[in-house]
Amino acid sequence: MKQRLQEALKHCRADYADIRFENLDTTSFTFRGKEQEGASTAMVQGGVVRACINGGWGMVAFDSLDDIEKHVSEACEYARLVSSRRSEKTMIADGPVCTSDFKAEMKDDFRNHSLEEKVRTMEEYNKMIMGASPEIESSVVRYNDRFRTVYYASTRGACFMEERPFIGLLLSAVARKGDLIQRGFKSLGSIDDYGMVLGREQDAQAAVKRAVELLSAPKVTGGRKTVILDPAFTGLFTHEAFGHLSEADFLFENQPMRELMHIGRKVGPDFLNIVDDGSLPGLMGSERVDDEGTPTKRNMLVKNGILVGHLHSLETAAKMGEQPTGNARAISGGFDPIVRMTNTFIEPGSWKKEELFKDVDDGIYACEGIGGQTQMEMFTFTASYGYVIKNGKIQDLVRDVMVTGNVFETLGNIDAIADDLVLFKNSGGCGKGGQSPLPVSDGGPHIRVRNAVIA
Ligand SMILES: [Zn+2]
Repeated sequence: MKQRLQEALKHCRADYADIRFENLDTTSFTFRGKEQEGASTAMVQGGVVRACINGGWGMVAFDSLDDIEKHVSEACEYARLVSSRRSEKTMIADGPVCTSDFKAEMKDDFRNHSLEEKVRTMEEYNKMIMGASPEIESSVVRYNDRFRTVYYASTRGACFMEERPFIGLLLSAVARKGDLIQRGFKSLGSIDDYGMVLGREQDAQAAVKRAVELLSAPKVTGGRKTVILDPAFTGLFTHEAFGHLSEADFLFENQPMRELMHIGRKVGPDFLNIVDDGSLPGLMGSERVDDEGTPTKRNMLVKNGILVGHLHSLETAAKMGEQPTGNARAISGGFDPIVRMTNTFIEPGSWKKEELFKDVDDGIYACEGIGGQTQMEMFTFTASYGYVIKNGKIQDLVRDVMVTGNVFETLGNIDAIADDLVLFKNSGGCGKGGQSPLPVSDGGPHIRVRNAVIA
């Protein structure tokens, strides 16, 4: 297959061109309350040819390799048309190219389990959630798996095959008392083990317990406080508030952001280190190679509190005079690769978790994350739940914990980082440019932020 793609690029006259072709095999279904929403399985094929001439890109999406030579010519033609209106040079970074094949190594392959078996397992979880308490009004139990096989070749000489499996499970309980609705959930993902979805009764029960307990928890009181973020909330903050700003496709054409994110800027205390690493094994954003044939690797974004790197595709790296990082990723066959995160996290520090709480007189412990919004350097995130911290002790459960602020101010106010790094494997993923959800992992240790704004 790879040879077929290489062959098709042989007579291509573009400055740069590549072809990615994928087979995608998916299963998904959802239980919502008492209903099961339709189960679906699909096998699709698709690919994209990209060509670049004088800085202008031409792209053709296709679903069969039958006319691949024709699609290559079309992409070149489009690129020529675009480039005739501009006077640029094609900029594609030099860098390592991958020429290997990577078969998935699965502990328990989900393709060996029937749809019936998967549905039955999820139905049990759903029954358990729905029957657990009179206050449970609804549920969401969602299962999905996909097996993606990527074939790739480029005029730089990159040429690879990589199998990328994914399994996701969401267990969510919705409780109601009057007008108040609260949710508890567990989101789980794996790239190599169907066994991950089995024996999750305790997680289902914990989701119910959380939703019901939150019904009688008071609202958090707002204001400026010391906030301790648990590893999951640290992960959400790191990915959403900082990680997306590091993506260079967004930077190189946006001068104010480029200044904000310039290399060498002091963004936090000396003990702050932030990493994006797609080469770590077994995480949701783990791939051996990105969708431009660049091997993934460990990329430092912040080292000793100083901004030291951005995330790149081949083009953004060339345009910003930096090295490719292996972060050009597409969600599936018909999409072009854009700059994306992989596994993004704050590295562990040297404090013990207990030491973070010890000298907090009046603070909030923000746990897990539902999501939120960002706009440039401003963010607002909602924790799934939180606790009041009084005189160094974790006390009452509180709901509606929203942390808001400026990402640089918040990073600057981190005054302690614990040694308890956790990297999460979730069923969801990242959304950007109409491509969602792309599997990623995030996480970190417990961190303490002074003077944070609770909305
Ligand atoms: Zn994201």
